[in-house]
Amino acid sequence: MLPSVEQETDWFKWIPSKANIHLWRTLNNRLATRDNLIKRGVACSSDECPTCLVTVENLDHVFVNCSTAKAINAHMASWVNWWPVNATSVRDLWSVVYEIGDSGRREVGKVIMAAYFWTVWTQRNHKTFRGKCKSDKDVCSDIQFTAYEWIRCRAKFSKPSSWENWICNPVDAVYSACN
Ligand SMILES: [Zn+2]
Repeated sequence: MLPSVEQETDWFKWIPSKANIHLWRTLNNRLATRDNLIKRGVACSSDECPTCLVTVENLDHVFVNCSTAKAINAHMASWVNWWPVNATSVRDLWSVVYEIGDSGRREVGKVIMAAYFWTVWTQRNHKTFRGKCKSDKDVCSDIQFTAYEWIRCRAKFSKPSSWENWICNPVDAVYSACN
């Protein structure tokens, strides 16, 4: 029997396979957060968030409620006006992409959100296993660059018109290029 899936996701062709799988695992709480590891009987030195050290690490804490996540979210909100800076869960974050304009622009939003999940989790792993992490602003820059590169390398027709336009307004940068 396969486990029932709570949140279905599509396979996004603008996102690499590893990031599509990561997105599915994120939306279905299948990442190796400390609460999930402990639930499965894996011995952990602590259940605390390795970044802030103040509370149990779970999915929503990593991406939304940790002080580091809040700071990164604030940078994201200053980049794109649709970013749900007051989201309280991963599901809240993801649901906002379905409210973005037309279906084409929505795809760009999904790529940016997938790049957010990918990059924040990568930083979490660097902090957990190497004890170091980048500044919140640099993480936001990594998200911008990652999403830009995914679309630039993988989209056939819709590509960002330029890096400058992408930084100014990523959704319109992709669609002004092909309109
Ligand atoms: Zn934390």
